Amino acid sequence: MKLVHIKRMRQELLQNPVFSMAAAQFDQVADFLDLNEELRERCKWPKRLISVTVPVKLDSGHVQVFFAHRVQHHLTRGPVKGGLRYHPAVDLGEVAALAMWMNWKCALMDLPYGGGKGGIACDPRTMSQGELERMTRRFTMEILPFIGPEIDVMAPDMGTNEQTMAWITDTYSTHQGYFVPSIVTGKPLGLQGSAGRAQATGHGVAFLASSALHKLGMAVEGATAVVQGFGNVGSHTVYTLANYGVKICGVSDVQGAVWNDTGLDTYALRDHVAKVGTVVGFAGAEAIDPEQLLCQPCDVLAPCALDRVIHGGNAANLQCKILAEGANGPTTPEADAILDQRGDIFVIPDILCNAGGVTVSYFEWVQNFQHYQWTEKEVISKLETLMQKTFEKVTAFAAKHGISQRVAAQSIAIKTVADAKAQRGMFP
Ligand code: NAD
Repeated sequence: MKLVHIKRMRQELLQNPVFSMAAAQFDQVADFLDLNEELRERCKWPKRLISVTVPVKLDSGHVQVFFAHRVQHHLTRGPVKGGLRYHPAVDLGEVAALAMWMNWKCALMDLPYGGGKGGIACDPRTMSQGELERMTRRFTMEILPFIGPEIDVMAPDMGTNEQTMAWITDTYSTHQGYFVPSIVTGKPLGLQGSAGRAQATGHGVAFLASSALHKLGMAVEGATAVVQGFGNVGSHTVYTLANYGVKICGVSDVQGAVWNDTGLDTYALRDHVAKVGTVVGFAGAEAIDPEQLLCQPCDVLAPCALDRVIHGGNAANLQCKILAEGANGPTTPEADAILDQRGDIFVIPDILCNAGGVTVSYFEWVQNFQHYQWTEKEVISKLETLMQKTFEKVTAFAAKHGISQRVAAQSIAIKTVADAKAQRGMFP
C-alpha cells in the first residue's frame, strides 16, 4: 500500500513539466557520475513536501483560501535555502523542481545549505498591501514548525520583495519573543539585510557574462547584449553590463520588447520604466516581437524572466555567442541537445549564472549571526571572488570530461550532495 502511494507521488511530480525537466537533467548527470541506485534515489526526491491552505480576509470582508507549498529538497549539508514566489501558476511540482535546482546551486557554490522553494498560488498584482501582509503572516504561521534559521531560510522570488521578508521576520520574531533576522534573507537594510543583496543576482549574471567574453577572447567593452525580463535580475544585469561598456541592444518584459541597434540608453530606460511600469513605448528604441528578440544577433543573450523560453522550436535560431542564464530553467533539455550539437554557443548554466543572489543571501545570514554589517564593496568583492572561482571550476571540469557546462556544473553539485549523504550514512 505504502509503495503504491510512493509510486503515485513520484508520478504526480513527474507529470509537472518543470519537475520532469529537472528530473531529466538529474538522471543525465547521475548516469555520468555512475551514481548507485540508492544514492540516486536519496538525492533525486525531495525530503519534505509541505502544502498548506492559507485563509485570508480580503479588503471586501470576504475570506479567500489560497493554496501554498514549501518544498525542502534535502537538509544533509545545512538548512534549506530558497525563494518564496507569489504567482497564479504556482504548483507543487514546479516548486519541487525549483527546490531541486536550488539544491544543486548551493552545493555548486559550496554554501552550507540544501535547496528549498516555496510559493503561494495568488495574483499579487491584484491584491492590496493589507491583503498581501495578512496572507504572508498567515502563511508564516502555517509553516512555522518547519522553518527556522537552522532549518529553512526563505528569500524573495517572483512576486515577493523585501517587504514580504520584513513581514515574515516580524511574524517569526513575535512568535519567538525576540528579534530573529536570520529567519530570512533579502530583508530591508534597516532590519539587518545585506548591502548589495538587491543587485546581487543581476550583478553575478553580468560578471560571469564578462568572464565568458574574456574566456572567448572577446572584448567586454563594445560587446552587444539582449536581456529578456526587466525585473530584479534583468534590470541589474542590464545596469551592470552597461557599466562594463556592453551595448544593450534589446530588452523585454511581460508586456513587450524594444530594440536599438546602436544600444539603449539604460539610464533613460530606467526612468521610463519607473514612470510607466514597462519597457514598452520607450522613445529611444523601436518595438520588436519578444520571440524574435531572443533570436537577434548579439554577443550575450541573458534570459532573466521565465523557465523554458529556449526550447526545441527556437534553439537552432539563436544568434548569440554566450547564453547567460539569469532565470531558473530557461533552457529545455531538447534545446540543450540542439545547443550541444551546434557547439558554437557558450552556455553559463542557471545554477552557476544566477547564483549571485543565494551567495549574497548566505553572506546576509552570516552577517546576522555575527551581528555585524559588511560594506557593499566587501560584499560585491567576496561575491565576485566566489563566482569566478566556481566559473573556473565548472569550465575546467567541462573541458576535462568533454561535457557541457550544464552537466559539469550539475555533476560537481550532485557529487557534493551524494558524497555528504554517503559520509553521513543512513539513519537508523
Ligand atoms: P521579477 O518578478 O522581479 O521580474 C520578472 C521579469 O520578467 C519582469 O520584468 C516581467 O515583466 C518579466 N516577464 C514575465 N513574463 C515575461 C515574458 N513572457 N517575456 C519577457 N519578460 C517577461 O523576477 P526576478 O526576481 O527578476 O526573477 C526572474 C527569474 O530569475 C526567475 O526565473 C527567478 O526564479 C530567477 N532568479 C531570481 C533571483 C533573485 O534574486 N531575484 C535569483 C536567482 C534566480
